[in-house]
Amino acid sequence: MTIATEIAQNIYVVDALDGGIVERTGIYIVKRAKIAIIDTCTSKAVPRILEALDELNIAREAVDYLIVTHVHLDHAGGAGLLLQSLPNATFYVHPKGARHLIDPSRLIDSARSVYGEQFNDLFDPIVPIPQERVVLAEHDSRISMGDADFVFYDTPGHARHHISIYDEATNSMFVGDTTGVNFPVLTKAGYDIVLPSTSPNQYNPDEMEASIAFYESLALDRIFLGHYSKVEPPTHAYEQVRYWTPIFLQRTEQAIAEAPDAPVDRLTELLFADIAEHAAQNGYTGELKQHIASDVIVSSQGLVHYFATRGDR
Ligand SMILES: [Zn+2]
Repeated sequence: MTIATEIAQNIYVVDALDGGIVERTGIYIVKRAKIAIIDTCTSKAVPRILEALDELNIAREAVDYLIVTHVHLDHAGGAGLLLQSLPNATFYVHPKGARHLIDPSRLIDSARSVYGEQFNDLFDPIVPIPQERVVLAEHDSRISMGDADFVFYDTPGHARHHISIYDEATNSMFVGDTTGVNFPVLTKAGYDIVLPSTSPNQYNPDEMEASIAFYESLALDRIFLGHYSKVEPPTHAYEQVRYWTPIFLQRTEQAIAEAPDAPVDRLTELLFADIAEHAAQNGYTGELKQHIASDVIVSSQGLVHYFATRGDR
């Protein structure tokens, strides 16, 4: 059973099996004159990443770069543990995210408060990253992959500690969670939906749109989503985020007005109904809720948080 699948020239995706879900969270390995790994998922995925390296005949000493798109635990939670097995890798992270991985106590506290008893099963251990291995991925800075470069870009919207990584060799971008989440299980059933990822607590719709407009201006051949994998051409993802964002914002206002004491629950109901209607209009009548539930709930929390705090920005 192969773990690493080639999805563009010398670019491989590894399914992290995040939370036991197939094709939920992707880890990328780029194998050129230089070798890079982009995102790690949680520490639970680290054995799979090491197995994928073996499969691709990449020695652990040969990995040059470990890069995270942002410091949410489903992207960076395993970085500290993985780095212990990659003695020569330099670690790249957004300047606003670095301190949370060097000292992960805040990430750990907030995950414990959200996930309680499940914390150990989902995330443990979260290993601190030694400061001397960290390089800040400044906007418009470059690293060499051999004949061509990777370029880092500051792309807020989903989070303020979010970078995207442009691959010159293939005119592609690793976009993390900035231009939505897709659902391969639904795509395979004929329903190709991409939902904006508006999770707490730094979601900003204007910044998200600016980041998407930036991707669009580069006329990329394809993008690689954190959840999940390749969108080629990328236009569909941009269109979907632009379709759903005004609906999400409008429903948030409605939920806060109708249920000021429990706006997240109300918003979740409203969004489920909107998505179910959209699915039906697009001819999809299969199971929907189980596939989108966790995203819709977390996105609802982020939307309500955005409305509650946007006056402070
Ligand atoms: Zn994510």
